Amino acid sequence: MAYDVVLAGGGLQNGLIALALLHQSPLKRIAIVEQGDRLGGNHHWSFHAADVPEAAAGWVEPLVTKRWPSYDVCFPSFERRVDSAYATVTSARLDEVVRAAAAAAGADVMLGRGVRSVQADHVVLDDGTRLDGALVVDARGPGAPTPEVAYQKFLGLTLRVAGRVPERPLIMDTRVSQTNGLRFVYVLPLDADRVLIEDTYYDESPVVDRATLEQRILDYARGHGLEVLEIVGSEHGVLPLPLERTATPRFTRPLVAGYAGGWLQPTTGYSFPVAVRLALALTAADPRAAVNELAARLGEQAVFLRRLNRWLFRSITPEHRWRLFARFYRLPEDVIARFYAMEMGAIERWKIVAGVPPRGLRMREFLRAVGDA
Ligand SMILES: Cc1cc2nc3c(=O)[nH]c(=O)nc-3n(C[C@H](O)[C@H](O)[C@H](O)COP(=O)(O)OP(=O)(O)OC[C@H]3O[C@@H](n4cnc5c(N)ncnc54)[C@H](O)[C@@H]3O)c2cc1C
Repeated sequence: MAYDVVLAGGGLQNGLIALALLHQSPLKRIAIVEQGDRLGGNHHWSFHAADVPEAAAGWVEPLVTKRWPSYDVCFPSFERRVDSAYATVTSARLDEVVRAAAAAAGADVMLGRGVRSVQADHVVLDDGTRLDGALVVDARGPGAPTPEVAYQKFLGLTLRVAGRVPERPLIMDTRVSQTNGLRFVYVLPLDADRVLIEDTYYDESPVVDRATLEQRILDYARGHGLEVLEIVGSEHGVLPLPLERTATPRFTRPLVAGYAGGWLQPTTGYSFPVAVRLALALTAADPRAAVNELAARLGEQAVFLRRLNRWLFRSITPEHRWRLFARFYRLPEDVIARFYAMEMGAIERWKIVAGVPPRGLRMREFLRAVGDA
């Protein structure tokens, strides 16, 4: 079978690419192959509204299940409301929207089908079916971790609760015991009686002790005046955060996209904003040039963010890592937004580094300490 575009893996990245391409031209012949029984797995993907370029709003907007005008952060030393819009997308909505767009355009969504191999111009499925594509995109999710990574790992429980659900997301609450590294709780108010609470860790091990985290989440909910009536959903993630230089993303054949291709924010492990921009680049008149131009911009930002990771994991003792973020969240809103969006200039970088723990660091000392990878 021959297509304009074959998408291997039906997760976030390829879901967004399918939407972007079908939005641009419903005549595109697209196949999306996913081993699971629905697209997108089981996630809430959240992002700062400013992370999404205007040109992508038309196809990102239908994915948003909830948005808020601001969010909170809490540290032992201070609390703050950040007046930046924040939004979330669910896997269920991604599945629904991509399938509807595909059905309308006659694109093929192949669920429950494994991809055995991905080549420059075709994909072979586990049952031997060959799909030819003028463009082939491999986005089969985070790959095997390399030794030079740390992790952002978490368990999230969606809870039906009685009590006062917070008005705004609380995207970082470090007023919890700091065990092996940075730990914080993340709270997303979904409805009047539904809340997503995640217990998140930044440390060197990929292991997640699910039972302990679940108990900590339930204790946190109760400790914040919420009576837990039911656990209605759960999701977990182990996101590798690069510490050293990684292969620079660029336009290749096949195009390795999504988390596996290094299209992510190295310090947060979040990939939604980058995935949107990569999908948008593929709609350009010259996709190769647009993808490589985006890769060059992100690659330059990633150098700084990997340095920040090395500083966080190698120079700050585990129990003090939260201080880096406490310091960061005292910065002006535009600096915070540019960090998440990977659009930092020299001044933002200096503001992020200047004064970070342990002793009020300067950019020169920071660069000397973390080397140049
Ligand atoms: C629980 C969770 C929550 C997250 N929350 C956020 C967030 O709030 N904001 C944010 O920006 N980032 C978030 N991330 C990080 C990142 O955005 C996600 O990991 C994102 O899903 C990565 O997109 P992807 O398309 O690269 O991979 P995935 O979304 O993991 O998609 C890969 C897909 O490929 C399929 N696949 C794999 N192998 C095969 C095969 N051989 N054949 C066929 N199909 C295959 C998988 O089943 C999967 O559906 C989160 C990650 C997790 C795990």
